[in-house]
Amino acid sequence: MDTNKGTYVEVLLPLAIPQTYTYGVPIEMVQRIGFGLRVEVPLRNKLLSGLIVSIHQEKPISKTRNIISLLDDQPIIQSIQFEFWQWIASYYLCHIGEVMSVALPGGLKLSSESMFVFNPDTELSTLDLSDDEHLIAEALSIQHEMNIGLIQDILNKKTVLPLIKRLMQKRVISIKEELRAKYKVLTKDYVAFVAPYGEKVADALELTSRSEKQSRAVLGLGSLSRKTKHVAKKALYEMSKIDGSVIKALVKKGIITVYEQEVSRIGIDDEGVDYSLTPLSIAQQLVHQQIREYHADKRVVLLHGITGSGKTRIYVELILEALAEGGQVLLLLPEIALTSQIVERLNTQIGDMLHVYHSKINDQEKVEIWNAAMFANKLFVGARSALFLPFSDLKLVIVDEEHDPSFKQDNPAPRYHGRDAAIKLAQLYGANSVLGTATPSLESMHNTIIKKYEYVPLMERYGEAIPPVIEIIDLKDSYKKGLVKEHFSQQLLDEIQETIKRGGQILLFQNRRGFAPVLKCQFCGWTAECPNCDVTLTFHQRIQDLKCHYCGYRQRKSDDCPDCGNQDLQLLGSGTEQIEEVVEKLIPGIRVARFDYDTTRSKKSQDKILAAFHNQELDLLVGTQMITKGFDFENIELVGVINADSLLSYPDFRSGERSFQLLMQVAGRAGRRSKQGKVLIQAFSTEHPIIKEVLLGDFNHFFAREEKERNEFVYPPHYSLVAIWFRHRDLTKTKNAAVQYANLIKSKIGRRLQGPVDPPVIRVRNQYQQIIYIRIEKDAKTLNKIKGLILATKNKLQQNKEVKQVRITIDVDPY
Ligand code: ADP
Ligand code: ZN
Ligand code: ZN
Repeated sequence: MDTNKGTYVEVLLPLAIPQTYTYGVPIEMVQRIGFGLRVEVPLRNKLLSGLIVSIHQEKPISKTRNIISLLDDQPIIQSIQFEFWQWIASYYLCHIGEVMSVALPGGLKLSSESMFVFNPDTELSTLDLSDDEHLIAEALSIQHEMNIGLIQDILNKKTVLPLIKRLMQKRVISIKEELRAKYKVLTKDYVAFVAPYGEKVADALELTSRSEKQSRAVLGLGSLSRKTKHVAKKALYEMSKIDGSVIKALVKKGIITVYEQEVSRIGIDDEGVDYSLTPLSIAQQLVHQQIREYHADKRVVLLHGITGSGKTRIYVELILEALAEGGQVLLLLPEIALTSQIVERLNTQIGDMLHVYHSKINDQEKVEIWNAAMFANKLFVGARSALFLPFSDLKLVIVDEEHDPSFKQDNPAPRYHGRDAAIKLAQLYGANSVLGTATPSLESMHNTIIKKYEYVPLMERYGEAIPPVIEIIDLKDSYKKGLVKEHFSQQLLDEIQETIKRGGQILLFQNRRGFAPVLKCQFCGWTAECPNCDVTLTFHQRIQDLKCHYCGYRQRKSDDCPDCGNQDLQLLGSGTEQIEEVVEKLIPGIRVARFDYDTTRSKKSQDKILAAFHNQELDLLVGTQMITKGFDFENIELVGVINADSLLSYPDFRSGERSFQLLMQVAGRAGRRSKQGKVLIQAFSTEHPIIKEVLLGDFNHFFAREEKERNEFVYPPHYSLVAIWFRHRDLTKTKNAAVQYANLIKSKIGRRLQGPVDPPVIRVRNQYQQIIYIRIEKDAKTLNKIKGLILATKNKLQQNKEVKQVRITIDVDPY
């Protein structure tokens, strides 16, 4: 190798492989290489972009190939990111390349498989492009899409990634994104003064002196902009009693401008809500002060504030302080759907110091925000993928709704928990952190008990809002007295009717979608089951189909039993669709809609339902757990839970915790502002401790009891749990692999081993499943040792030919 004087780099590739690859560095690149730069490298017969993670002079034993080109002159990650990736890989037992693969936005991961498309908004003539760049841009503007191979052919060159990168930076081309539901951002029009008139309203008035309407608009805008940073056009219409033509005239005169801004998708049109920064209440001040003190000692804070207590208001206070110090802030939310709502609020209070980052924004934008994180001191709001932004100066990390199970990624690897990873990230940066929730997870609460975190409670609602009254309706008793009509107790029906009479609105929670989960032959006992999974098919009335909720399989419902031919088919159980139908039948004239996975598939339909509910064109909304999160409508006076037992009976050690959280969250939707709300929970098992604790809103009791039980049964949070899944089309092979695994590890870990056991559903998508659980004491040494064994055993087992085809996945801290 003539060019190589013995400098090598370790390159990390976004693949599920255990190690980095060593490449030689051509002499002309030696001066320019460094940590975190992307390089183009050959791997087998492919070209890939990878990251330089270290540089050394050790000549590898085997023959190495050289780097082909260098893509960056500035690193695209910080060294802390790399440490973070390493931590995730080692804690969650996966490959660091898998972490890299989810961490980097598509636009930063170029490979021979990447497809490029022309960016239609680009005006080629206005750009300064090299000949080669021009050639590719032209070719792409004609051709639909191109991969690297084709670009190489056109240019007759092997090294093309640097050119592709430049074209992406100039926004001429972008990486083609996989087909996915297009996330359409909902926007709204806002108005503002053109610069000088904001300060000098009098000057503006002079210009409009001949039109009374225009003057009214100017005065109105003046007063609204004192209250909020972003004045909605509609708010101005209402305030000044004007219409679009007046706005147009003012725009033409150069007095005001109209601009678009992303808005909330939940709680649409809240012009009425005043988001201006009012002072903290006394209780909030105390909490804020307490958090600041803990942060001074670098302690992680768990903020346990009941719904409506003003957690978000306190976040804003902390965020503004961190930004004022010139730091960056990360606000993590469990779900994308929730981002827009909070973003609108933060927008008016924090202004344009804010970036939103999650998996549904387009790649171009992702790369831009990625770059911003490298230097800009802003607030980054996002779902768990925002953890991977290359922060330069992270000062504060807030995890809202920390208890939410959707923080855990289940597929693909890394199967990490967004909350726990966030705490680690904050530690690596020396940043402060806050976990906020109305119903703390057992893990986080436990951490406050063992003094790993600090506990800060806020147990009163802000202002006049008072917590709702909660009542349990005993279904056993109601049935005995003949007071139940098709899943509805008389009491619930009465309350619904009274609420409507008062002009209030109602939420009904039923944690199952479709019409009925079981179709059964009364004659021979046959039930409709999925051919691919071991579950019954759910009947969906509107489409008259039976559907599998695991794999999506569908079939037409027939009238007679396929086994015995009798026409004795009966639908058992109830889902949201049925509840909707029944309520319409029992309360004639009621205006009802349903909010679940089936009715909200398109953004448009979702927005429509929410808008109708907001505008009080609906009396009642039936929904699954989708209605439990961040549903902030002030007119909800009654919340009903159709059947609490269905939550409690789920076979999982977390089902008690989940049920408590869900029920408390649903309850929190009632009476959010000045009116006191009511919550009615129908249940058979009224003596169930969870039901009693929900009734009293008694978190402490719930926590103490649940924690004790978990401890007795050797579950988290006292112990760490690792689940090892085995999957294959053949049941015997699956079982065999799991048994062999257990045999290999048993003598080394003893009673920590549990299983193999059947999961609640053994076969999904024609794959049979087995699980092994391993419970581990929480001291770091044991934990590391056993995790090492878990991984080694997997590797050992996979060398066995028979077992090789069985897919083994490791899930640390499963949810
Ligand atoms: P949480 O996040 O705990 O549910 P929020 O921050 O959403 O609570 O507050 C609940 C309601 O009370 C919101 O409508 C919010 O605007 C209002 N609120 C909370 N704190 C204040 C405050 N200090 N001044 C004015 N309004 C407040
Ligand atoms: Zn039958
Ligand atoms: Zn299925």
